[in-house]
Amino acid sequence: MPSSAIKLTVLPGDGIGPEVVAAALKIISAAGVSLDPDVQLAGAEAFKRGIESGVPAETIESIERTRLVLKGPLETPIGYGNKSANVTLRKLFETFANVRPVRELPGVKTPYAGRNINIVVVRENVEDLYAGIEHMETPAVAQCLKIITRPGCEKITRFAFEYAVAEGRHKIHCATKANIMKLTEGMVQHTFEDISKDYPSIEARHILVDNAAHQLAMHPEQFDIILTTNMNGDILSDLTSGLTGGLGFAPSANIGSDVAMFEAVHGSAPDIAGKNLANPTALILSALMLLRHVGEGKAASEIEHAVLVTLEDGVRTGDMEGARPASFTTEFTDAIIGNLGKKSRLAQPREFKRINVPQASNEVGHVNVARRNVVGVDVFIESLEHPRQIGDALTRFAEGTGLALKVISNRGTAVWPEIGHGTSLVDAYQCRFVVSGPVEADVTDAQIVDVLQRISSTYRWVHLEKLQRFDGKDGFSKAQGES
Ligand code: NAP
Repeated sequence: MPSSAIKLTVLPGDGIGPEVVAAALKIISAAGVSLDPDVQLAGAEAFKRGIESGVPAETIESIERTRLVLKGPLETPIGYGNKSANVTLRKLFETFANVRPVRELPGVKTPYAGRNINIVVVRENVEDLYAGIEHMETPAVAQCLKIITRPGCEKITRFAFEYAVAEGRHKIHCATKANIMKLTEGMVQHTFEDISKDYPSIEARHILVDNAAHQLAMHPEQFDIILTTNMNGDILSDLTSGLTGGLGFAPSANIGSDVAMFEAVHGSAPDIAGKNLANPTALILSALMLLRHVGEGKAASEIEHAVLVTLEDGVRTGDMEGARPASFTTEFTDAIIGNLGKKSRLAQPREFKRINVPQASNEVGHVNVARRNVVGVDVFIESLEHPRQIGDALTRFAEGTGLALKVISNRGTAVWPEIGHGTSLVDAYQCRFVVSGPVEADVTDAQIVDVLQRISSTYRWVHLEKLQRFDGKDGFSKAQGES
């Protein structure tokens, strides 16, 4: 092994993973790039061995050493049991940026062919609903916390702009649902608007994510980079891969300040696993992103040309329109190797500079505020009673505490003092207490404990949230119908 060989951890993964990873490694080797791979386990086999996270300690140690990963898809048990091994890896190594580029490829027939689609979805990769913080509030009510942080928003936004600089792109749409989730998705929008001022040569636009989905279906060629949250990005990036030929062509990179992990967008496709039918293009394009990341841009462009020439020549795997009945992964791979050194007539690899990835800070992330007040508390309780009964009881409990019951809501809709027509109730209520009377004083912990103790004499309380104001701005949302 030459000493200049690129050290990396290889996770062949599950299902079609080993086949497509083998294809990518074979092509890279044929292109003369020397790799020093450390092949490790993650996913289904690790779960079977009883490893809760799906990622064995040896795999973690390997990645800590190499800080570079080529990864096949990992199966995730759905709806029960263990966490996703993919999410574990992304969170463990804080690969906060998920980059998913798609482009129109020669010879790949889609309804959008000829429109020159070339879009990168930059998806925040560790926060949002995927922080995985879920609770059963009652046996009937599940809750998932959507965590969005200002430092997280700053990092992913800067990354998106730096990515645009590295690839010579000119426009970023930030896609959010800030009209509904004003504090969480709103923070993404506001951070984007703030940071965009540092990059005046890049056009910065905000778009609501539902409109982004519509616009992607109608006029996809208007997009260059789409920056978005974890959940939105998961969905939008599958949509963008659909526009350009499907999951078989969609590569991705998970990039952090320290570790970078490259993988196809697709999963383990168990229906075609082991049959030599998988399209390896997505994993090959992911491997090209890896090569560019480590400065092997020349080899990456040579391989990319060979992939493009192969597609132009009409070589196919089974998922592509016009494929012959037996269109095998290995034949397709060998055709690419045979085309190394040839140049595509129809498409060009993109010029690419190293991305200036925002560095991790050792400090605890925070935002300074000059003034903060606690103006009340939300107590979440479980009850089968009607809101009127609960309202009467809680009003009584609050007497003499300095707090007063303001509103009770159910699934985010106010149901006390007034209840709307046709509001369905479940056994989880949010009960909002605020300072009684016109007093501007802070609510104290002693007041909150007092009211909580009184409530717990009659009701099962589940959790509470302080109502805070930062520099005069409410740090909480109002219930639907709350005045
Ligand atoms: P999937 O594995 O992406 O497969 C969906 C379908 O897409 C396949 O059945 C196959 O369709 C087609 N397909 C995907 N990749 C292809 C390729 N390279 N070549 C040809 N056809 C391809 O999605 P899924 O069935 O929802 O998920 C299966 C498992 O993968 C789950 O356990 C999931 O959690 C996991 N997963 C892992 C990752 C990851 O590791 N990053 C990502 C997504 C899903 P046909 O029916 O046309 O053959």
